Amino acid sequence: MTRRHLFSLLAAVGLADKAAAAPPPLRADIVPLRLSDAQWRERLTPQQYAVLRQEGTERPGSSPLNDEKRRGTFVCAGCELPLFQSQHKYDSGTGWPSFHTAIAGALGTKTDFKLVLPRTEYHCARCEGHQGHVFDDGPAPTGKRYCNNGVALKFVPEVA
Ligand SMILES: [Zn+2]
Repeated sequence: MTRRHLFSLLAAVGLADKAAAAPPPLRADIVPLRLSDAQWRERLTPQQYAVLRQEGTERPGSSPLNDEKRRGTFVCAGCELPLFQSQHKYDSGTGWPSFHTAIAGALGTKTDFKLVLPRTEYHCARCEGHQGHVFDDGPAPTGKRYCNNGVALKFVPEVA
């Protein structure tokens, strides 16, 4: 579903105004993907499993996606749901792929206290795979910094 299609759908059910003000609702077109732990272990590399299923954090600077500059889409490494677009990626200097905007409705969030201070964890809306944390020190236009584990994403270049 395209963004425009989604927006007209929301407008049709009177949610467009709310969607602009509040965090975007989870998309109705996303069918949850639930697999057993054994199935996830089979499907993912050990590094992907540690991040996506156990909320691990990759070593900063370790992801080749830090230097990915092509046009395209970053999809969930667990289920290939599109999460971010290349034009919303920026160099945050943290050593993790960073984005100021996510694809609407593609992420769920929760608060975690792993580092004592509360942080907003975010995950794929389809497979609930952990992606990263979102902070309020990002650039315009959103002021958000989605700090993502590169191993939790796959890059799909735009076909010219
Ligand atoms: Zn996923």
